[in-house]
Amino acid sequence: MEKNNKDKVVVLTGAGGVLCGELAKAYGAEGYKVAVVDLKKEAAVQIAEQINKAGGKAIGVVANVLEQKSLETCKKEINEKLGPCDILVNGAGGNHPLGTTSNPFFKAEDLENTAEGFKTFFDLDVEGIKFVFNLNFIGTLLPTQVFAKDMIGRPGCSILNISSMNAFTPLTKIPAYSGAKAAVSNFTQWLAVHFAKEGIRVNALAPGFFLTEQNRTLLTDENGDLTARGNTIIAQTPMGRFGKPEDLISTTLWLSGEGASFITGIVVPIDGGFSAFSGV
Ligand code: NAD
Repeated sequence: MEKNNKDKVVVLTGAGGVLCGELAKAYGAEGYKVAVVDLKKEAAVQIAEQINKAGGKAIGVVANVLEQKSLETCKKEINEKLGPCDILVNGAGGNHPLGTTSNPFFKAEDLENTAEGFKTFFDLDVEGIKFVFNLNFIGTLLPTQVFAKDMIGRPGCSILNISSMNAFTPLTKIPAYSGAKAAVSNFTQWLAVHFAKEGIRVNALAPGFFLTEQNRTLLTDENGDLTARGNTIIAQTPMGRFGKPEDLISTTLWLSGEGASFITGIVVPIDGGFSAFSGV
């Protein structure tokens, strides 16, 4: 029999951050027991405190999604304090400047540009690219290996990965992040098939553009006005605005609940129409 929300444990990685912090609070408000996991312990504890103050039940736990040992220690604490994991949200992720080109389009004259920090495709640093692939892809795979073990043989369990718009069509300047999120979408489908016989559902969100600390300097200037890139994004978004973290809540709760019990292997764009619009 399906359990009530209050008997279900949700583990969210990267939940000390903007988007998954908001999702953690939404799960808390719906009565789920919430494990807020982040590399930054203080951020995780702070979100957990907010959930508890609002009448929910949450703990903040530190873990590095790239280290199995750290994840195992984190899982032990969650299992002892809340119980086995029913829902895993793989939210830790992000980009790195070393995997980002300075210009969207390459021109031969760029090779002569000696400005500090200017990067063409030829200057991309393999270490930066590895960082981004590891954080987004390995950082989804490893927590799944650790927490999905709790789901075996128990009904109503699911995994939600966080992909991105750029998984469908790569964004200019960020080849590593685009490729890594494409891998997350692909892995979502692979895992959905792999776990289907055990009844563990696996889906993903593909958020469009949400103004957060990660991308604030790319999208707005020091006065809060849109940069050229910010303007291009808004012009390409039929609904004419950036996403707000709360725009992700209803889809997240739906995909985690009984209403989605026959849904697995989908990647849902939440993007104000960005991915549907050809630009003309
Ligand atoms: P954020 O930077 O606010 O949150 C990311 C969190 O992950 C941070 O709290 C950080 O401490 C944590 N983290 C980083 N490395 C970690 C590690 N090794 N182990 C554990 N935790 C780690 O970013 P956000 O905007 O809230 O993004 C959340 C997710 O949504 C990411 O996967 C991001 O790629 C994705 N996303 C964001 C947007 C957007 O517009 N902001 C769009 C599409 C997808």
